[in-house]
Formats: sequence, structure tokens, C-alpha cells
Amino acid sequence: MNCINFVVPMNPCPCGNYPDFNKCTCTPAQIRQYLGKISQPFLDRLDICAEAPRIRYEALTKDVRQESSAAIRARVCKARVIQQERYVGRRIRTNSMLGVNELKEFCSLGRSEERLMRQAFSSLGLTARTYHKILKVARTIADLDGSGRIMESHLREAIGYRTMDKKYWGR
Ligand SMILES: [Zn+2]
Repeated sequence: MNCINFVVPMNPCPCGNYPDFNKCTCTPAQIRQYLGKISQPFLDRLDICAEAPRIRYEALTKDVRQESSAAIRARVCKARVIQQERYVGRRIRTNSMLGVNELKEFCSLGRSEERLMRQAFSSLGLTARTYHKILKVARTIADLDGSGRIMESHLREAIGYRTMDKKYWGR
């Protein structure tokens, strides 16, 4: 199984201001054509779709303590070790490599989490592929949180990384 890490940054439209209609100078046809370059099957293969909103001046200058890169790195390394230990003796190193059958074993959900996934499946029009991706991403968020179980908050965050494609590309 191959594991490819890649990041695809893109503007929401040719001028970069959509969906801010006060600033966007593109026509609806231009926006459609621009977004149409990315196909749904391609989007479905991405683990995470996240929007990077324009940062406001106040947010840049506000005196808020952010988690340092070193602290985040330590948390990521710890999550990688958790995964290595969980999958020892298997041909799996990370959550992203889990197959459908292994998902049942390692990403089992409680009752309320099941319900949440059922809701997301219909409201977001998920495919089998995106449904499984959410489970794997939620497993990783739980690992970063040091949680043995996937909780509702982990699932909600993972589902959040799938809502942007619906917002821009619809279904
Ligand atoms: Zn525009």
C-alpha cells in the first residue's frame, strides 16, 4: 500500500476573493470553470479539505499564546508512536493505511458517534471513500488527543474537514 503525502493549495476563484462578493471580480461562469478543474473523485481522495480564511489585523496583533511548533511536533511524534504500537506486526504504519476491514477493528464507534456519522453521511452526501476517510482522520485526531476511543469531538472535527468541498463544489 502506498502512502503519498501531498498538499494542494488553491484560491477559491481566479481573483482569490470568492465567496466575498464585495471583493470578487469574477463572473459566475469564471468561478465555475475555475473550480471545475478539480473533479469530485480527486477531492474524495484528499484526507482533509480546509479553508484558510484571510487573517484579520487584530488577530495578528492580539496577545494570545499559541501552541508552539515544538509542542505541536511533540504531539505529532507521540501520535505516530501510538500508531506504530497499535499496528505492530501488521503492514500498517499509520491510520491512513487502514483498509475497510481494519476500520471496523480500530475505528469502532460508540452509539452517539454512530448517530453523528449517519447524519453526516446523508447531510453531506458522503461516498464510501469519504466516509472511511473521516473515520481515519478522526482516529488520528483521537491519537493526537491521546484518546484510545474516537469521541464525538474527534468525529466532528474530522467531519469539518469534509464540509469545504460541499461548500465550493456542491453535490
Ligand atoms: Zn474572484
